[in-house]
Amino acid sequence: MNHIASKEEAQLVRPGDDTGQPDDGCAELARLAGYIVGRPVPREALADEVRLLALAPPAMSPAQRQALSDLAAAARARQELRRKLSRAESFLSGFAEHSPSPLWIKDRSGSYVMGNAALHGFFGVPTVVGKDDSHFWPEDVRRSLEEQDRAVLDNGEVIKTMETSHDGARHWLVHKFPIDVDGEPFLGGSAIDMTEEVAKERALIRHDNFYVLLSRLSAIISRARSLEALCLDTCREAAHQPGLEIVDISRRDEATGAIRLFTSALRDGSEHEWRSDEDSAAHADWFMHELAVAAAASGTLQFSNDVNHGCTRRDIRSCMAIPLLVNGKCWGVISFYSTRPEFFDSFYRERAGELGTELSFGLERLLNAQELHRLARTNALSGLPSRLHFDEEVAALAAGNASGTVLLININRFDEISSAYGNTAAIGLMRQVAQRLRGEVAERMVLSHVGIGRFALFYPVDEARSPRGYVHDVIIPLLEGSYQVDQHRIWCTVNVGAAMLPEDGTTADELLVKAWDALAGARHMEEHIGFYDRDADHALARQISMEAELRDAVERGEFVNYYQPKVDLKTGKIAGAEALVRWNHPTRGIVPPAEFVPVLERSGLVIEVGRIVMQKAMEDWRTWHDAGLTPPQIAVNVAPAQFRCDTLFDDIEKALNTAEAHMRPLSIEVTESSLVSDHRRVVDILTRVRNLDVPVAIDDFGTGYSSLAYLVTLPVDVLKIDRSFVIKMAQDSGYMGLVQTIVSLAHNLELEVVAEGIEKPEEAKLLKLLRCEYGQGNLYGKPVPAEEFALLLKK
Ligand code: C2E
Ligand code: MG
Ligand code: MG
Repeated sequence: MNHIASKEEAQLVRPGDDTGQPDDGCAELARLAGYIVGRPVPREALADEVRLLALAPPAMSPAQRQALSDLAAAARARQELRRKLSRAESFLSGFAEHSPSPLWIKDRSGSYVMGNAALHGFFGVPTVVGKDDSHFWPEDVRRSLEEQDRAVLDNGEVIKTMETSHDGARHWLVHKFPIDVDGEPFLGGSAIDMTEEVAKERALIRHDNFYVLLSRLSAIISRARSLEALCLDTCREAAHQPGLEIVDISRRDEATGAIRLFTSALRDGSEHEWRSDEDSAAHADWFMHELAVAAAASGTLQFSNDVNHGCTRRDIRSCMAIPLLVNGKCWGVISFYSTRPEFFDSFYRERAGELGTELSFGLERLLNAQELHRLARTNALSGLPSRLHFDEEVAALAAGNASGTVLLININRFDEISSAYGNTAAIGLMRQVAQRLRGEVAERMVLSHVGIGRFALFYPVDEARSPRGYVHDVIIPLLEGSYQVDQHRIWCTVNVGAAMLPEDGTTADELLVKAWDALAGARHMEEHIGFYDRDADHALARQISMEAELRDAVERGEFVNYYQPKVDLKTGKIAGAEALVRWNHPTRGIVPPAEFVPVLERSGLVIEVGRIVMQKAMEDWRTWHDAGLTPPQIAVNVAPAQFRCDTLFDDIEKALNTAEAHMRPLSIEVTESSLVSDHRRVVDILTRVRNLDVPVAIDDFGTGYSSLAYLVTLPVDVLKIDRSFVIKMAQDSGYMGLVQTIVSLAHNLELEVVAEGIEKPEEAKLLKLLRCEYGQGNLYGKPVPAEEFALLLKK
């Protein structure tokens, strides 16, 4: 048992009296009592008044008795005091001895006057009493302790400090306070072991830091627009977490499974996006490649306290690698490096999963968005960039003040190919065309697949060749020719329309519409490439306003029929008539069909107007007939849209009912474009029309692309040779041969032949020689209004 060394104790511990007990001051009283009673009084009898009085002789005076009684009272009081003191002493020593915390008292000079068992245990000495701090602490510590002590004694204040062992493993809360003993100053001290509390608090702080990191990561994820930004921001944020030195993210190559460093950030602020293996191998010597590979391969967290040479050089002692799973597959690994040994304890390892999941979520969101973006910008049929991609690229080019030409490449008659060989073959062809283009076209030219059978290309102004030269020398030889698609051999031709950035437009929409116009022009001119004609812009504007006017014209009944005679070339007599529509414009007067029929066709109004013309033709026929004339059969032009419209039969029947149906008052003329593609349906329509006893003529024969061999397989009755042949025939013997072939082939197929646009007698003569039986043209009569035509019939 240790002693509490104090002044009180020093006074109390004196050589005892005869009892050998420490003197409690009663021995003196006992001697006094002995004088009074006349014999020795034992100490234990002194405080007991009854025993004391019993010892007294009977002759004692009342004063003596009173003195004895007072002595007994004084002795009792002293005993009581002694007992209390001893209790207090036991409390104090028990408290000090059993306290787990070191407790001590020093005097003013710095000598310990008291220390408890815990303190002795701490210093490893049997007692501290009489020693000062120079026995226990190095000089610098001792001096600082002395300073503290002096401050406490001088200012009379309590000082509270946190002290940590030099290895950092233990922590104490130290209180120092002044103690005043009868005006003499002493210094009391206690040291409470806080090691566990500190550890708990640190864990709490790490916990907080970790959740701060997680919440920052959420913010990073929500604002990240690219993988690089997301990964770099994450590394940067994490590298500033207490205890961490470096954070890096590596990516797993999907094809080879190789792990490559992607981004990294160091606590010192340096950060990096790694572009190549060589670069990272040379400059990222810390990268724990093996650990990342293990994390990626196992799909589980890995940690190591055994680091590589690069880490050691940077004082890094521990590392942890977390796999990042995106859409169920390992996308990469995030690795944390700490300068503290075994930093990645269970706390980190348990929470690492959350961090990995959060970052994986961010990556997944971004990658899925990128994939969606990519899909939206890819044509699913060909794999080429899509129309949307082209829109964006053109917008970017326009914004960058680029100039160049948008080339719209169109596979000719794609619809026909599709109906002839089937959809699958047509798509197969389109894919092959796309492949050829992709293989040839330079990346800077922004190739895109913009529609069924259509591709767009931006041809920069600074290319060596002109766009026309490029199309002729590269595109046409590349694409035109035969393609083997499954079991089919398909012949393919292309046309190209061109519009210029910025002259013709600054958006893909504008440029493609104009390139499309140019393409139509090229096809019309039978050229491979056509450039957008800016003057035609006005025509377009006119067309749009004309469409509205035409709708009004239908309502107001402004369309009138003119009739042109068809004559028997042998006799010169009228053998028929063609109804040709005219627009009796309120201000412009009679407008020829060339100006408005294309607009009618494009707007679909041609169905309504065609019906009116047919109905009017039959009404006129009826009028002539009723007037006693012999009206010939009237041919009515039927536009492609009408031809494919189911109401055609009703319209014909209704019109026929107006006239004398049995007298075959009506025939129709259709152009080649109505007849190509979907052979079965065309045959079906033609058959139904002829079943109404309405003959069918192929109009403008020779101007289309369809072969004679195809057209003659159709159930038709009349072939109208286009005016262009009639003109060329008189000048070019080759054409003469051609017309002769057409006429004789038609006759073989029992078709009537009508030559259009005969203006000159020589033409009529040649046609007669070629045994063409009918003719139409200004030579015989221009188209005239119904009343005038009636006059012709009267002749
Ligand atoms: P088309 O059916 O080939 O009509 C013949 C065109 O040649 C008519 O032009 C006629 O006036 C013109 N023509 C006839 N003989 C001569 C000639 O000797 N010399 C010259 N230079 N031209 C001659 P038009 O009336 O201007 O009609 C042009 C085209 O408009 C027609 O060609 C036809 O395709 C279309 N069209 C006319 N009326 C209608 C209609 O009611 N419906 C539809 N869908 N199209 C119509
Ligand atoms: Mg015609
Ligand atoms: Mg014609």
